[in-house]
This record gives sequence, structure tokens and C-alpha cells, in this order.
Amino acid sequence: MKSLMERSERVIAHTYARTPIVLVRGKGCIVWDAEGNEYIDFVAGIAVCNLGHAHPGITQAVHTQAEKLVHVSNLYYTEPQTELAEWLVKHSFADKVFFANSGAEANEAAIKLARKFFKDSGVSGRFKIITMKGSFHGRTMATLTATGQSKIHGGFDPLLAGFTYVPFNDIDAVGNAIDDTTCAVMLEPIQGEGGVRMPSDDYLPALRKLCDEKGVLLILDEVQTGMGRTGALFGYEHYKIEPDIMTIAKALANGLPMGAMLAKENVAAAFTPGSHASTFGGTPLVSSAALAVANALEEGLISHCKEIGDYFKGALLQLKADHECIKDVRGKGLLLGAEIDRDGAPIVQECLKKGFLINCAHGNVLRFIPPLIIEKEPIDRLIETLDGIL
Ligand SMILES: *Cc1c(COP(=O)(O)O)cnc(C)c1O
Repeated sequence: MKSLMERSERVIAHTYARTPIVLVRGKGCIVWDAEGNEYIDFVAGIAVCNLGHAHPGITQAVHTQAEKLVHVSNLYYTEPQTELAEWLVKHSFADKVFFANSGAEANEAAIKLARKFFKDSGVSGRFKIITMKGSFHGRTMATLTATGQSKIHGGFDPLLAGFTYVPFNDIDAVGNAIDDTTCAVMLEPIQGEGGVRMPSDDYLPALRKLCDEKGVLLILDEVQTGMGRTGALFGYEHYKIEPDIMTIAKALANGLPMGAMLAKENVAAAFTPGSHASTFGGTPLVSSAALAVANALEEGLISHCKEIGDYFKGALLQLKADHECIKDVRGKGLLLGAEIDRDGAPIVQECLKKGFLINCAHGNVLRFIPPLIIEKEPIDRLIETLDGIL
């Protein structure tokens, strides 16, 4: 298999520091490499495969739809896309959905919509978007600019005009940054890539109130937190608020590429024919996979995630009590992080050797984002292994 890794390095752009295994097959929470080694997957394609690998509902839906119709373009109506949008509208704050193919694209749509909303309302000069330090919104020019991390900006000057950054979880900083050029505040309810950083309970409600008072839009990037990951369908539900615009992607179609931007009717009205488009957005094929995800979410997956997430967090807190190198344990549902007092990469490597895929965010935060279908037993095994390693 060395040769396959070498072949890959020769022809694939070097944008990823890859783990040296070749994965060939998966089932549920387990993946196998080309040498037959087995790994329990606590990464799930970075919070994507919420139903695990080779889920029969997804496989069946994709198979059936592929035999009927894969793609026709958004010049025409299709049933799976309509049904999926109806489901999303029924289960969220939103009235309208725009389908894209990734998180970054969903965020691009949100940024464009926020700007156009004010232009269409006849309010000129409101274009600035306030985002958070430590945030992550994607890698396109607009979304990397929105991302409040200099390591993501490096080398891509000039960045897009019209973004300002404030510290996460600091309501006064947002208040001070809003002026009459501001059109929106954009943030993740929980910062995933930034190291599973949590807001205090009153932060999002205060932010909602502030946005209302100042007449600016609240955009929530739920690309990672959405679709059940935090033990609620959407992260905003924990804080009893509603955004004006929300983006989702990662787990939406369990690994088929799909993103979506959702908005309230009055805001969404700024998008008219010609404003925005996507060739692949919401094809019948990916929509059919997302509908299978929706089915599973309705059949108790979210309450399972909450229960298992609480169990997992409890076990991590016990691990923290036993190991001084763990400084903090945080997260909701199955978006969990353990901050350690050193570089996390060697621990990720050790876990790999022992048959576990885990991930490290922000250098020193071990991140646990397994499929939501995971049970207690593999969690116990990971905790035991981490105990040994630490
Ligand atoms: C992963 C992620 C993105 C980017 O999604 P892509 O599909 O990689 O473009 C945007 N925002 C958040 C919060 C993410 O976690």
C-alpha cells in the first residue's frame, strides 16, 4: 500500500497532511484499511457520517434514486429536492432553502443574501459582516475572509472587503463593532474547528437581542453543529433563539456533498431569479440521501445522540479527574473536546496504532465527533485506551 500513498502524493495537491493509512471499507462506526486493520471511527469524516458508514437506508435511497434520475439541473422541478426543503422548513425557523454543495458554498450564499437584503430594502452602505475570532467558515475567498483565523488568511491577500472580527462570547465587543455599515453578525453556535469552544448560556440570546435592536441580521453557521450533532436538530435550539439565516452542510446527506442556506421569508425574498445559483445544488441523488438522513433523525437518533453524548462527556470528565494533562472537557451531544496541555498530534497517532480514529482541533484539543449511532461499548474502549496513553 506504500505505493498507493506514494502515487497519491505524486498527483494530489499537497493541501492535506494525511494519516498514513488507505481506507477501503466501512460499516457503522468501523472502517478498515487496505491491510485489513480495523479502526473505530471517532471522526466520521469530520462530523459528516452521522449514520455511520454503509448505512442501509442511505445505500438503498441512493441506489433507488440513481436508477431513476441523478441530475437534471435547477432549470426543472424535482421531487426529492422539494421534499427535503419541506422537511427542513417544517423542522426549523426557516421558510426558504437554497441548496449548495458544501459548507463554504452555503456560507457564500448567506453572505450574498445578507448584503442583497439591505440593498433591496433601499438601505445603502450596509455590507459589513462581523464574525468571531477563532471561527471557521470555509476556504473560498469570502468564507476564508469571514474566518477569524490568521493562519487561514495567510498568503491570500487582498482579502474580501467588509469583514471585522471580534472575540467569541463577548457581547460588548459585538455591540461596539456594529455601526451603520453593518449588515450581519455571523457565527457558529459552538466553534468546532476552533477547538470545540462553547459560548456561555446567555451569549446567543443577548446577541439575538442586540441584532434586533440594531437592525442587523443574525447568521448562524451550523455546518458542523446542525443535523443532530449537538443533541438537538440545530444548535440554536439549545439557546431558545432563532437566526435570520442559517447554513448547514456536513452531515446533511451523510457524506454525499450537500450544503444548504435557510432563511426567513422576508430575508430570502432578496434572492430572485439570477441572484444566485448552483449547477449541482440539491440534485435528486443527494437529496434522496438527505431524506434518508431526515428519516433516521425522526426515528430517535437525536435523543440517542444526547444520551450517548452525556455518557461520553461523563467518561471524559472522569478521565480529566485522573489525568492532570487534561485541562478542560467541553461540548454538547457528540461534538466533544478535551483540551490538553500539550500538542495533541502524538496522542492521535497513538490512538491510530491502537485502532481508533480521533482528531485534534486547534493543536491541543482532542475532538470526538463519532457517528451519532455509536453505542457505549466503543466509547468505553476508547476511554480505556486514552487512559493508557495519557
Ligand atoms: C466544515 C465547516 C465549514 C466548511 O465546509 P466545507 O464543506 O468544507 O466547505 C464551514 N463552517 C463550519 C462551521 C465548518 O465546520
